[in-house]
Amino acid sequence: MIYETVGFLLGLIFGSFLNVCISRLPGHESIVKPSSRCPHCHASIRWYDNIPLLSWILLRGKCRDCGQPISARYPLVELLTAIWFTIQAARLHTVIHFYFSPGTNGGSSYSAFAIIANLGVTIAGFLLIGLIFMDWETGLLPDSFTLTGVFLGLLLICTQAIFLAPGQDQILLTQNSPKLTSVGATADTGNLFMTGPEALILGRVLAACGAAILMLLIRQTYRAIRHREGMGLGDVKLLAMITAFLGFWPGMLSLFFGVLGASIYGIFQLARGRAGTSSKLAFGSFLAAGALIAAQVGDRIIDAYSQLLR
Ligand SMILES: [Zn+2]
Repeated sequence: MIYETVGFLLGLIFGSFLNVCISRLPGHESIVKPSSRCPHCHASIRWYDNIPLLSWILLRGKCRDCGQPISARYPLVELLTAIWFTIQAARLHTVIHFYFSPGTNGGSSYSAFAIIANLGVTIAGFLLIGLIFMDWETGLLPDSFTLTGVFLGLLLICTQAIFLAPGQDQILLTQNSPKLTSVGATADTGNLFMTGPEALILGRVLAACGAAILMLLIRQTYRAIRHREGMGLGDVKLLAMITAFLGFWPGMLSLFFGVLGASIYGIFQLARGRAGTSSKLAFGSFLAAGALIAAQVGDRIIDAYSQLLR
């Protein structure tokens, strides 16, 4: 339970910081100064009223100074981030238990690989939760989250490439065809021209570029058919970020979940008469939420699907 508890508490702290980012980044405000203020009366928030989750509950969602309601988004973001960190801490616990328990040969280089992957999913979740709420509230997906995310995702892949397990950078000649064992997949058919680390890094860079190009094509097609903007460049950068962290197929799965979620929501809004066919929809929120699901269960879905095709 120690991993999960530390994960939960760290998640609350990061969630609290994420709230500041959500409130200020879309308006290009500083996230460092001034200190947290009430959005209504601008009174500084006392440290004891700034405790994640607890303060909001104790104050019954109202400012201590002016009594105006404080958005439920604050405790919601803190709780979601805490849940995300708890899940990732539990995964980290499994990884460490698997590689470092007595009787195993100690941490192999693959353990470092798995731990970095775990860190990547944790960071991706933090950014994605932030982007869900920023797009929902302002319709903006700040570059300080999306482009920084692309950079961090690719940086982590470069770091992972250092820790390929023995044999993973070698070409194996099997009975049927020459195969290059590559990371993230068991005995993936590879090629004879690149070593494991090169294939891993270049593959992920190409995946992120491919995802961005695909989104640009969808954007152009929509514009040609509907004669209006359906998707911002922020959505393009967001899918590039998701793919940089998770890989190509989880990225595509995120897009599928995002389109599905947005469609269901759109139909509901139309049915309730809340929206017309030209209403704006925060697609980035749905895409980011889809990526959270893909990051968590994507591997299993993709495996099951490729089994079906076999
Ligand atoms: Zn106030």
